[in-house]
Amino acid sequence: MKFTSICIKCGSQKKWFKDRCPSCSFLPEEKIDIAKSLMLSISFEIQSNEYGNEYAAKTWQELLEIGKHIAKSGNYEFDQYLLKKAEDEITSLENLSPKAVLKSVVIWLAPVLVVIFGFILYVIWQFFKV
Ligand SMILES: [Zn+2]
Repeated sequence: MKFTSICIKCGSQKKWFKDRCPSCSFLPEEKIDIAKSLMLSISFEIQSNEYGNEYAAKTWQELLEIGKHIAKSGNYEFDQYLLKKAEDEITSLENLSPKAVLKSVVIWLAPVLVVIFGFILYVIWQFFKV
């Protein structure tokens, strides 16, 4: 099993930042908790500019040290700037969910369908006019 993330509550290692922690069964559900969990994972990237993402994750070794710190003190001071970036990243990931993509496709398609439907009505109307 490959671990990529540290539990923000107890410092244990877990497979994926959105997973339920196998040790304390904490499940990040609030956006802020998901953002913190993302920060304590090796897949943390921040949107740097319009050209793409910037890798902002700590090394696994550093994350393990943070995990030990959390296990001992039950606390970790998150960098507020990076936390804000992590929340933005969660938001953009949510916008890429299948449901969100489907919604934007429907919004883009609706005017096209209206035009096609209107054209069909026009043709039918022309056909029966004579
Ligand atoms: Zn935990």
